[in-house]
Amino acid sequence: MSLRNVIIIGSGPAGLTAGLYSARANLKPLVIEGLEAGGQLMLTTLVENWPGHRDGIMGPDLMAEIRAQAERFGAEVIRGHVTSVDLMTMPFLVRTSETEYRTRTLIIATGASARLLGLPSERTLMGHGVSTCATCDGYFFRGKPIAVVGGGDSALEEAIFLTRFASHVTVIHRRGTLRASKIMQDKAFANPKISFEWHTEVEDIRDTGIGEVNAVLIRNSQTGERKAIPVDGVFVAIGHTPNTSLFTGQLDTDGGGYIVTSDGSRTSVPGVFACGDVQDRVYRQAITAAGSGCMAAIDAEKYLEGLPQHLGEAHATA
Ligand code: NAP
Repeated sequence: MSLRNVIIIGSGPAGLTAGLYSARANLKPLVIEGLEAGGQLMLTTLVENWPGHRDGIMGPDLMAEIRAQAERFGAEVIRGHVTSVDLMTMPFLVRTSETEYRTRTLIIATGASARLLGLPSERTLMGHGVSTCATCDGYFFRGKPIAVVGGGDSALEEAIFLTRFASHVTVIHRRGTLRASKIMQDKAFANPKISFEWHTEVEDIRDTGIGEVNAVLIRNSQTGERKAIPVDGVFVAIGHTPNTSLFTGQLDTDGGGYIVTSDGSRTSVPGVFACGDVQDRVYRQAITAAGSGCMAAIDAEKYLEGLPQHLGEAHATA
């Protein structure tokens, strides 16, 4: 069984940036891609807010660039899906479907997945009018009507933000009261560009046949009435789920299931670091994820410097 200095789980902006920095620190990191290689940016089209790309860059192209950059400095990026980890032994044990590794440090960059409605059209049209990120995609809907699905703070925050671009924003919520904070509700109610469809479920998202959204089909759960609202975009904002099931019972998480980090990227287990959306319920941007990946790599490097070498070696042969 090979002993590594750094294993990184996840290959979005956080994981690959951690890979880049720890490779440049000569730690020869192993990045295990995970099932959704490249992370959430693989689901987006043009990324216009990544600094340094004045005209934007396609999400998958950006991820390919970061990956190649990390590999250039010696990061080993492998396909693979981690099936379990044991953080109670030192070095930590990481099992994939094919093999197992020991590692002195572990960087968790497993991300969060936007909750989806589960409609086939939602999947097909993702990045083509359907989005889970107003900050990323709002700009594409200048002067156009759009819908936001959800009734929490995220949905209202996105709706308010999107009124900067859209001609009108319809918030579609499944109940008659909002989950969002009062202040957010007041702001949304006061915004003349926002209207609400209450007790309403999305039944389908329709497109022009050439992959562009042109309507959302909704059904009122109280009256059974169905109607199609003409929109050019649908933003699904029904929450995120951090991908932490591998670490249940081994790391501290907050009420939302996010890994708790302190003093940079440190988790509740020394030698285990977390970066990106798995520990960030607030910013959730590619650039903040990359920044926290950099922090995790530096934190891991510092931790390794202070680690008695014999500890790792002794356990490596165990
Ligand atoms: P959330 O509070 O869990 O709200 C999710 C919303 O989506 C709820 O209204 C829920 O409806 C709805 N929903 C869930 N599943 C659905 C489905 N399958 N179909 C239709 N609707 C569905 O999530 P969030 O808004 O992302 O917020 C997460 C946390 O971050 C919260 O603590 C929030 O306060 C915080 N946050 C804060 C800010 C801020 O303060 N600026 C901004 C964003 C987020 P129900 O209400 O019927 O359950």
